[in-house]
Amino acid sequence: MLQLGTQVQYVKGVGPRIAEMLAVKGIATVEDLLYYLPFRYEDRNNPRTIAELRPGEMACVIAEVRTSMLMRTRRMPIFEMTAGHGRAALKCLWFHGAYLEGRFQPGQMVALYGKVEANAHGRGGLQMIQPQFEILGEAEPGEEPGEYHSLEIGRIVPIYEATGKLTSRWFRRIIYRALQDLAPEIPEALPDAVLGHMSLIGRRESFLAAHFPDPGESFADLQAQRTPAHLRLIFEELFFLELGLELKRRKARGRPGIAFVIGDRIRSAIKRILPFHPTAAQKRVLREIVDDMRHPSPMRRLLQGDVGSGKTIVAFEAAIIAIENGFQVALMAPTEILATQHYLSARRILESAGYRIVLLTGSVEAAQKREIHRHIAQGNAQLVIGTHALLQEKVEFADIGLVIVDEQHRFGVMQRMKLMRKNTGVEPDVLVMTATPIPRTLALTLYGDLDVSVIDELPPGRTPIVTRRVPDERSTEVWEFLRKIVAAGNQAYVVYPVIEESETDTELKAAIKMYDELRKKILSGLRIGLLHGRMAADDKDAVMRRFQKRELDVLVSTTVIEVGVDVPNASLMVIEHAERFGLSQLHQLRGRIGRGSAKSYCILMTGKKITPEADQRLDTMVQTSDGFVVAERDLELRGPGEFFGTRQAGMPDLRVANIIRDRKILEAAKREAVFVLQGPNEQISQEEQTRALRHLQSHWNRRYGLVEVG
Ligand code: ADP
Ligand code: MG
Repeated sequence: MLQLGTQVQYVKGVGPRIAEMLAVKGIATVEDLLYYLPFRYEDRNNPRTIAELRPGEMACVIAEVRTSMLMRTRRMPIFEMTAGHGRAALKCLWFHGAYLEGRFQPGQMVALYGKVEANAHGRGGLQMIQPQFEILGEAEPGEEPGEYHSLEIGRIVPIYEATGKLTSRWFRRIIYRALQDLAPEIPEALPDAVLGHMSLIGRRESFLAAHFPDPGESFADLQAQRTPAHLRLIFEELFFLELGLELKRRKARGRPGIAFVIGDRIRSAIKRILPFHPTAAQKRVLREIVDDMRHPSPMRRLLQGDVGSGKTIVAFEAAIIAIENGFQVALMAPTEILATQHYLSARRILESAGYRIVLLTGSVEAAQKREIHRHIAQGNAQLVIGTHALLQEKVEFADIGLVIVDEQHRFGVMQRMKLMRKNTGVEPDVLVMTATPIPRTLALTLYGDLDVSVIDELPPGRTPIVTRRVPDERSTEVWEFLRKIVAAGNQAYVVYPVIEESETDTELKAAIKMYDELRKKILSGLRIGLLHGRMAADDKDAVMRRFQKRELDVLVSTTVIEVGVDVPNASLMVIEHAERFGLSQLHQLRGRIGRGSAKSYCILMTGKKITPEADQRLDTMVQTSDGFVVAERDLELRGPGEFFGTRQAGMPDLRVANIIRDRKILEAAKREAVFVLQGPNEQISQEEQTRALRHLQSHWNRRYGLVEVG
């Protein structure tokens, strides 16, 4: 009899050698094996006939092998197999298919899964290229022929990701045996009240139904992993993830930090510097930040707000509180341009109050740098603004109280950690700002120990940006429009995806070459500047400043302007080869305009080659300027891995859940985790709470790199 905790090598058919292979996949116990869910299902209950198939669809068919042979073409060996039933036939091709020689025998029944295509040569014939296949009734070594026939046909069949020598079929049989031998009672880790709130089915039942569904189960729900069995397993995984994160957050709040004092004097200092009335959202997030700062534990807060929502002023307000309390503040930006810009606005807004502000970037000369370091070490510099590189250098603060990290849309969780370690005394407060408006619970999950504040409102007086797609052929109209904008007293950005034209792709317009062309011909007479990442920092600054002072009408640029640049008088952005940019990137770029009172336009110019995904990105841009919607679309199009970079960015390594697809469940899991931690009470017994915490510790903590439960 197997228990969930039994080592996987004791499952029938698995020995020590195979157990080693499974260990590589993270499968050590019976429970791990049962969490290895099928990634899709085949409906072999009602298989399709070949005659029903239509080109373009993904389909599963069961047919009889007729002929097969290896064809040695000049370019590569192609293995061809024809399967059929009745008079209908389906040709299957595998490129480099020499390994399949001798694999099929005429008369065998075979299940095929792949994309149906019209056969290039035959009239009306159909084919599948590289289909997945399973020869039905075939025995694995050591089995009776036909022993597991019933697992493969006449039912909804689970398909597993193969790994090395272990095929999908092998997993199916092993998991089947494990379920046969599993103890009838397996312990429940979730409290009754939670099961009730979520109407969850039992664990044992879930494992059975997810691997070997009832014939009546909705096939669509299975493929989408939305059956009650899937929902139960996904919820469980996310519940324990959120339980761990919540504990971690609570523990962090117990550490010693600074309790800033905020009285009338500081309030009026803040009021004096504000150049405008804050929006309701800005007021709300400032209150949240102030509450954290007064609290004697270190603030760990994420400030989210779409581009242009006005995060900077909120950061400055927090800075004033720290400075007025006698502490130093560090403000870090992802690029030199942005650091410089923060520095300029800090001086504009804060210097009248007498605060001492310094800028420290990589391009500051050595002698001057030493001087600045000394000011910081002696506590003369009250607000230190720099790039993230600030962390890597040996900057010693006299008494740092607040660290503000402006990440824009980058996720530099690792860098944040470094800064926290640098401080020797009490931990400073940390405020991280990001312009990627991801759903709140998702942010809480990705940033683990951070609390989240959201600015969900733009400053007043903004007119919505009009976004249009225009093919290259109509560029003349675009440049005419640009001239009109400039004639009306506004400025424009023209953005290119690369700096220099590549040798391979002459289609692609390059910033430098186009800068010349625009200056000399297309836009002659206008004042045009060039900005790209390979320029020296001083030159970049100079150009940026001239654009800011309206000494330039047009700024030709690469994506270096995508982060945080703020020139309200710019009301047009032309993005060339917009099909080459990612969705979030386009949104960030567009965020540079629409900051003033003039109506703003974003023109997405496109070349000839547009993939379907690029097409969707461009359409999304035209349809919405809501950063929240854009981020969700981007997540859907790219998937979380690519969206956030690597796992290093804080993506937990989940087995069955997907925090994007399952974000609704994630919300519920978080709510339930908080609910369980509120116990014991009449709904959650002490025993249930302890059981859940023990389960977290023994099953999930190590996997997700969470803290031990103290
Ligand atoms: P982001 O959130 O992208 O960092 P910024 O802080 O750069 O946005 O603000 C965008 C622009 O809006 C700036 O020009 C800023 O001065 C202006 N702004 C911010 N808050 C307000 C407000 N409450 N009323 C009017 N203008 C504001
Ligand atoms: Mg900003």
